[in-house]
Amino acid sequence: MVRKGYRYITLLLCVGMLLGLTACGKRVTKFNNASVSMGTVISQTVYMSVTGFGATDAGNTAMADINEILAQIDETYSWRKDTARIAKINAAATAGEEGSLTAEQAREFQILLDLCKQTDGAFDISLGALTRLWDIDSKATGQPAGQLTGQEAGQASGREEAEQAALMVPSETEIRQALLDCGYEKIEIRGKTAGNTEVDSQEEQTIYLPQGMSLDLGAVAKGIASNQVMEYLHENPNVHGAVISLGGNIITYGDRGDGSSWNVGIVNPLDPDTNIGYLTLKGSHMVITSGDYERFFETGGQRYHHILDPETGYPADAGIKSVTIWCQDGIVGDALSTACFVVGTERALELAEQYEVEILIVAEDGKLVMSEGMKKVLTVQ
Ligand code: ADP
Ligand code: MG
Repeated sequence: MVRKGYRYITLLLCVGMLLGLTACGKRVTKFNNASVSMGTVISQTVYMSVTGFGATDAGNTAMADINEILAQIDETYSWRKDTARIAKINAAATAGEEGSLTAEQAREFQILLDLCKQTDGAFDISLGALTRLWDIDSKATGQPAGQLTGQEAGQASGREEAEQAALMVPSETEIRQALLDCGYEKIEIRGKTAGNTEVDSQEEQTIYLPQGMSLDLGAVAKGIASNQVMEYLHENPNVHGAVISLGGNIITYGDRGDGSSWNVGIVNPLDPDTNIGYLTLKGSHMVITSGDYERFFETGGQRYHHILDPETGYPADAGIKSVTIWCQDGIVGDALSTACFVVGTERALELAEQYEVEILIVAEDGKLVMSEGMKKVLTVQ
């Protein structure tokens, strides 16, 4: 009897240990890192399936690799850095020449141009002339780089006057003029295999932009980065889980070793220091938000934000404060977050359905409009 009781206790202990292991889950080591890249704050939390002495190396390597991916994207997709591929394409167009593309780069442009077309140009990669004219990035950070040089600003009589001049809204005529140099329909991908979607095609191609036009891929650079970071996470066997924030773009991957879900906070665009709630997601996802609170300047009691309506040339004014897209592809999600902001709620819901992504819109009056799938994962606080 005693022996039997002993056996029971042993069995219970074993079961208990097994449950304990399951409850504790896989052993992981957690790492955090914050940095600035692509003009935004990057925060990384990575759960490495390496413990003990090797963990620190593995964790630091993963986070440094991710920062390197982001730096490379910035070096490639910026229109501001002369050495960047996009800046070189713009320079070629200014000189009346075509920019050269590898087959892979040409395919990426085909995807982007198709997104421009499907959104009826609400997302448009050719807005360089317009975004440079508005120069909202500089005005939003208080660095009047576009309209007024530092020297000119210094010469202006008094600091206030200089600041006002720096925050000047472009004139109707300037906007109309800039719009003449915009329009994705005028972009052509040229070459023998243009439009070829076969992965193994290595044929070199070119991109043609009319003289005066310039590319601005600011709306999708972080989405392109998100795709590359996600690919890296999938390929690194030491990473068990991660949640990475590139400004308004959040990437989740795997789990914390315990099978639990991620809670992705959604900023309240009416009070950006608070959240309206969070999405509960398991595994790998992207949550991409565009809002009028991210980059803007205010003058004459009016807010001028960084998402422009290519039809009017002015900041989009479709009654929306923010759009969040929950998706699996960063390029699609980032292009749609921008386009949906421009087109307004009704058309935004159609686009989300067409691309099979979930959408959450915060309207100007604070009302939430969302797709069915979004309702299932959103907890409003
Ligand atoms: P964020 O970069 O803050 O995440 P978005 O993804 O919406 O915001 O991208 C906004 C940026 O994209 C702007 O700063 C500008 O460079 C560019 N842009 C503005 N309006 C458009 C548009 N309608 N289509 C494509 N790009 C745009
Ligand atoms: Mg975007």
